[in-house]
Amino acid sequence: MYKIALITGDGIGPELSEAAMSVLNTISDNFDIKFNVTKLLAGDSALKETGKALPDETIASIKKSDACLKAPVGESAADVIVVLRRMLDLYANIRPAKSYPHMPSLRNDIDMVIVRENTEDLYAGNEFSLGNSAVALRIISESASKKIAKYAFETAIQRNLMRKVTCVHKSNVMRITDGLFVKSCIDVSKNYPGITFEQMYVDACAMNLIRQPEKFDVIVTTNLFGDILSDESSQVVGGLGMAPAANIGDNFALFEPVHGAAFDIAGKNIANPSSFLLSIKMMLDWLGKKHNDKQCFVVSKKLESTIFDLVKTGVKTKDIGGNKSTSEFTKEITIRL
Ligand code: ATP
Repeated sequence: MYKIALITGDGIGPELSEAAMSVLNTISDNFDIKFNVTKLLAGDSALKETGKALPDETIASIKKSDACLKAPVGESAADVIVVLRRMLDLYANIRPAKSYPHMPSLRNDIDMVIVRENTEDLYAGNEFSLGNSAVALRIISESASKKIAKYAFETAIQRNLMRKVTCVHKSNVMRITDGLFVKSCIDVSKNYPGITFEQMYVDACAMNLIRQPEKFDVIVTTNLFGDILSDESSQVVGGLGMAPAANIGDNFALFEPVHGAAFDIAGKNIANPSSFLLSIKMMLDWLGKKHNDKQCFVVSKKLESTIFDLVKTGVKTKDIGGNKSTSEFTKEITIRL
């Protein structure tokens, strides 16, 4: 029995959480994996109800769970996810971008993953006012840089595709901070002679994600660049509605869609739940690895293929060219599972 903490979030979060609950229940009912899910409050709704975007009970519940699923939260996102990433030392943010057939993607030959450092950089929120100026501290450490570089190289080995790591930075301008990040990646690369290592400036990377995205395998980069580039890479393969992410530490992991709360489509039952359901797939892979549980890998593959087979047959939500509602699409998935 896996204890799952589910943050239901804001905007389209509750609709996506309902879809996630249906799928988790279907898995529990039909496979040899059981989930005990606790729904938790965090984000704008929590702030309104309790005065805290990340209530103490939510933190306590997450700490007691085997893994956390987090639907998107709204304006208070920084007070939720940024805090959780640092509190739980979820140092690696993994954002895959893969082309699947029958998606409105720009290309159909892409299979890359962005490995984003998740605890430092400008996202640490070290900001203050100084007279009439505003200051943000960009702290990059050798230890965090080496840790994420190692994760990226191990990912390239596990994927066993191009066996290539691209370090993305802007060290020609941010010589000291990004200089340290690149140096750390170069140092780590020496332990992986079987993996091709290359460097790219972040502006060139943004261009190449459009021009020749098929050339990327594993991108390793700092926090802010990783956030921006992963929105771009997800659009190249069909949009945010299909983009899952994992926040991984040595002992715990949290899974969430790449996108935000999408208030423009909230409450309309039109959001694509795939981003969150593919986050469950990533969670199954992580649980399978951690607990040496082969069933998790079986169900992970089944869930992924079910989603993409469905899309292939034209059963899609609006964002990817279909006409199914969130609940209709989810129902089809549970039936096929
Ligand atoms: P944040 O800054 O919190 O990441 P954002 O302002 O970039 O949020 P998102 O909420 O990430 O905006 O989404 C951008 C747009 O993409 C939304 O306005 C919505 O139209 C679309 N979108 C995002 N997620 C989905 C989804 N699951 N299904 C369909 N459309 C989506």
